[in-house]
Amino acid sequence: MSQVVELRRDGNVAVIVIENPPVNALSNAVRRGLIDALAQVKSDAAAEAAVLACAGRTFIAGADITEFGKPPQRPVTNDVIAAIETLGKPVIAAMHGTTLGGGLEIALGCHFRIAAQGTRRGQPEIKLGIIPGAGGTQRLPRLIGIEKALAMIVTGDPIPATEALALGLIDEMFDGDPIPAGVAFARKILADKRALRPARDRDEKIAAFKASGAKYDDLAAKYVKRGRVLDATAAAIEAVRFAIDLPVAEALEREREKFLLLVGGDQARAQRHIFFAEREAAKVPNLAGVKGREVKRAAVIGAGTMGGGIAMSFANAGIPVTLIEVTQDALSRGLGIIAKNYQGAVSRGSLKPEEAERRIALIKGETDFGAVAGADLVIEAVFEEMDIKNRVFGDLDRLTKSDAVLATNTSYLDVDAIAQATKRPQAVVGMHFFSPANVMRLLEVVRGKDTSPDTLATAIAVGRKIGKVPVVVGVCHGFVGNRMHRLRSIEAERLLLEGALPKEVDAAMTEFGFPMGPFAASDLAGLDISWRMRKAQGARAEIADALCEMQRFGQKSKRGFYVYEEGSRTPKPDPEVERLIVETSARLGMTRRNIDAKEIVERILFPMVNEGARILDEKIAQRPGDIDVIWIYGYGFPAWRGGPMHYADTCGLRYVCERLRDFAATTGDQRHKPTPLLERLAGEGRGLASLSEKAN
Ligand code: NAD
Repeated sequence: MSQVVELRRDGNVAVIVIENPPVNALSNAVRRGLIDALAQVKSDAAAEAAVLACAGRTFIAGADITEFGKPPQRPVTNDVIAAIETLGKPVIAAMHGTTLGGGLEIALGCHFRIAAQGTRRGQPEIKLGIIPGAGGTQRLPRLIGIEKALAMIVTGDPIPATEALALGLIDEMFDGDPIPAGVAFARKILADKRALRPARDRDEKIAAFKASGAKYDDLAAKYVKRGRVLDATAAAIEAVRFAIDLPVAEALEREREKFLLLVGGDQARAQRHIFFAEREAAKVPNLAGVKGREVKRAAVIGAGTMGGGIAMSFANAGIPVTLIEVTQDALSRGLGIIAKNYQGAVSRGSLKPEEAERRIALIKGETDFGAVAGADLVIEAVFEEMDIKNRVFGDLDRLTKSDAVLATNTSYLDVDAIAQATKRPQAVVGMHFFSPANVMRLLEVVRGKDTSPDTLATAIAVGRKIGKVPVVVGVCHGFVGNRMHRLRSIEAERLLLEGALPKEVDAAMTEFGFPMGPFAASDLAGLDISWRMRKAQGARAEIADALCEMQRFGQKSKRGFYVYEEGSRTPKPDPEVERLIVETSARLGMTRRNIDAKEIVERILFPMVNEGARILDEKIAQRPGDIDVIWIYGYGFPAWRGGPMHYADTCGLRYVCERLRDFAATTGDQRHKPTPLLERLAGEGRGLASLSEKAN
C-alpha cells in the first residue's frame, strides 16, 4: 500500500485512511494511494461499503498548493472522484477538522458525508485566485442549492457543521473519532439498503434556477456590483451557471477548463505568491528553534488612536492588557472610544454583547505607571517625540519585570536610540502597527541592532497570536512601508504640478486596484501630520503645504485635496484646488501636459519599487516578498497584483529600469535612477523573485 494511504477492513466495511501530515493535503501521492485503495475495495467481495477518513488533525484541508502552476499530474482529483462514483458500493466521507478545497470536492464525490461537531467545510479557492477544479461548482449546488453554493464559492468562507447539516451538505454529525463513526454510519445505510445517488445525479435543488435563467442573473449581480470583478469571481459565477445550463458531464469539463486557465493566469500567480510570501515573512535566519517568551499579560502605554486599537487587538485574542495614560481624562477618553468601537460591532451584529463585555473587561485602565510591573510585554504608543519616548523607556527599564519585552510603536524614530534609554537594549524591539490597529493586519517587527533573538521571536509570536501578519524589518527612517510610501506622496504631488488633477491620479490608482487613490487617502489620514513632519525636516510639498496653509486638512476639516459635504465621506473635486494646482504649475514655470493613466501608475509605483530594491540592498527587508506582504496588508495594494515587487517582475525589470531612467531624465530627480540591484537583475534577465529562490 502507499505510504500516505492505508486500507484495512472492519468486517464488511473497508476503511481507507489518509495520513499525509500536517493537513492531509491532496498531493499526487495521496491521489495515487486513493485510486489503488479504491481498486482493491472494488475487487474485495467482502467489502460492502467504504469509509474514507484521515489520521491526524483534520480531513483533507485542500490541494497541495506547490503543484499549482505546474502541469497537472495524473491521477487528478477528478480521477479519484470518478473511481468513487463508479465503485458500485457506498463510500462515506467521515470528516473531522477542516475540509477545504479539493478535500471538500472528494467528499462531494462520496455517496454520503458525515462530519464531527464543531468542524467546518469550505471551498476557499477564490482566495488563491482560482475556482474549484474538480466538480465543486457542480456538486455543491446540487447538494445545497445554487444560492448558498455560489456564496460559498465566491466568498471562499467556510460554513460550520451545523449549517452544513441543515443545508444537506452532510448527512449526519458525530462526536469523537471519525473512523468508528463512519463504520457505524456505513452499517446503518447497508442495513437500510439506502440507494446510491451521487451528487452529480441530483437535480432537485437546482430545478428552480433551471426553470429561470433570469433568477440566476439577479443572484450573480450581487457579486458584481462593487467595481471590478476579478477573473476568479467572474469564472466562479459562470461555472456555477453551467450547473443550470449544461448536462453535468459537459459542465464538469467546462469547469475544469476554466480552472486550468485561471491557475496559469497572472492573478492566481500573484495570489499564490502572497500566500507563500506571508508564511515566509516571519521566518528569520538564525531564529529557528528560538521560541520566544509567553505573553500572559501585556501593557500598552498611551490610549490614543494607536494605543486603543493595540489594546483591543490583545483583548480580541483573549490576552489581558493594561492600558496606561498620563491623566484620568485621557484614559477615560481612550477607554470610551474602545467601548464605542465594541458597541459598534455589537450593533452591526458582528459581535455578541457578552463577548464585547468579556473583551472590554480584559482591558484595564491605569494612570499609575507602576502597573507595567505585571506585564510580560509592554508596547509604547505615546506621542512621536524622541524626548518623550526616551523618558518612557527609562521608566519602563526601572519598573518592568527583568525579562519583559519592551516594544515601541514608533513610525519613524530610531529604535536603536530608543533602546539606549534602557540598560537592556537586547529587550527592545519595534512593533509597528497600522491604523486602525484593531483592524489592520500588518505588523512591522523592527529588529534593532541589539534586539536579542528571543525578544524578536516573542514579538513575532505574539503578533501572530493577536491575528497580525508580522514582517521583520530593520531600522531606518520609516522602516519599509512608510519609507516607500513617502516616495509615492512625492511623485503624486509632482504629477499634479506636471499636469494631472487629484481626481485623475486617484482614478488611475483605483483602476489599478487600490481601494482609494493617494489624495483621497491623504484627506482621510489628515494632511496636517505630514505637513508638520515636512516643516520639521525643512522639506516642502507645494500643493499639500498650500492646502494646509489654507486650513484644508482633509476630511476632518471637510476640505483637503477634495471637498466633503456635511455628513459625507465622498471626495468631490474642488475647482478652488484645481485652480491652485494650475497656478502653482505656472508660478514654477512648468508647462502642463496630459498625463495618461498608464504613466500615472508607473510614475507612482516604479519609484517605490526602486526604493524597495534599495531597502533590499541595505538588508532592511529580507526578501522582495516581505515588501509585497507589507504593501498588501498595510497599504491596500491589490493582492491579485501580488504587491509592488511582484508587479515589477510582471512588467519585466528591463522595462521598469527603462522607465525609471526616463523619469530621472524628465524630473531631474536622481533618486529615480534604477538602483544597481535592479540594473543587475534586469541585465541578467532575472526578476526580483529570483533573489528569494537563491536565498532558499
Ligand atoms: P495619539 O496622539 O492619538 O496618542 C498618543 C497618546 O499617548 C495620547 O493619548 C497621550 O495622552 C498619551 N501619552 C503621551 N505621553 C504619555 C506618557 N508619558 N505616558 C502615557 N501616555 C502618554 O497618537 P497616535 O496616533 O496613537 O500615535 C502614537 C504612536 O504611534 C506614535 O509614535 C506614532 O508615530 C505611532 N503610529 C501612529 C500611527 C497612526 O496612523 N496614527 C500609525 C502607526 C504608528
